Amino acid sequence: MRKIVIAIDGYSSCGKSTTAKAVAAELGYAYIDSGAMYRGVTLYLLEHGIPFDDLPRIEQALQEMHITFKRNRKTGRNELCLDGVIREDEIRQMRISNSVSEVSVIPAVRHAMVAQQQRMGRKRGVVMDGRDIGTTVFPDAEVKIFMTADVLTRALRRQEELALKQEHVPVEDIVENLRKRDHLDSTRAESPLRRASDAVLLDTTHMMIDEQVDFVLERVSATLFSLAAGGWQGSEQK
Ligand code: C5P
Repeated sequence: MRKIVIAIDGYSSCGKSTTAKAVAAELGYAYIDSGAMYRGVTLYLLEHGIPFDDLPRIEQALQEMHITFKRNRKTGRNELCLDGVIREDEIRQMRISNSVSEVSVIPAVRHAMVAQQQRMGRKRGVVMDGRDIGTTVFPDAEVKIFMTADVLTRALRRQEELALKQEHVPVEDIVENLRKRDHLDSTRAESPLRRASDAVLLDTTHMMIDEQVDFVLERVSATLFSLAAGGWQGSEQK
């Protein structure tokens, strides 16, 4: 069966990664969390004391750091590694969430991450989630989904995730962080967060994860059917 690229973009904490992970598992595809890579760069810069406006040092750091994923056999999760060490828990902390959108606006950072993401998906058969996957990383993705949800719903979901990791954060702080990131992500000059013209909108405010996964899988089936039938008319007509 032909392998395709599934791009899942949208706002923070809409359930993109949970959905993308389940879709990838169902299809036997690789799952790539592009946001984790920007979080990894942020952690690296903070740990090395590199200011976010020191472009020469950032460019040097991008040459030196190694961002990879390693599959955790117990959980089946792909975990982010920085220089070979799993840093999955640290990159999810609020201190990283509070800085990541300032790092992801830096063009040199975007160029390095986009190039790496394109290499990771060059054989297709991937589900990648992020902000610019359907617009910049894989504008030719066969299935593009753009996820959104009410900000309070998103904040409550995020609060629950953090609480599971023993990080207890007031919901107002999370709402503020989400709004700030939405704003920075949508207004930056380089590949801002926006819905690709051929992306299908998915509002997850009142949806359960299973419904989100089914929605994406139905799009995938329809696309694969259409490709197999040779009736592919181009992604703009989805
Ligand atoms: O998806 P997640 O919330 O972990 O992403 C963290 C941040 O990384 C986003 O707020 C955004 O600033 C940045 N990002 C990006 N482009 C992507 C994925 C994430 O700029 N493709």
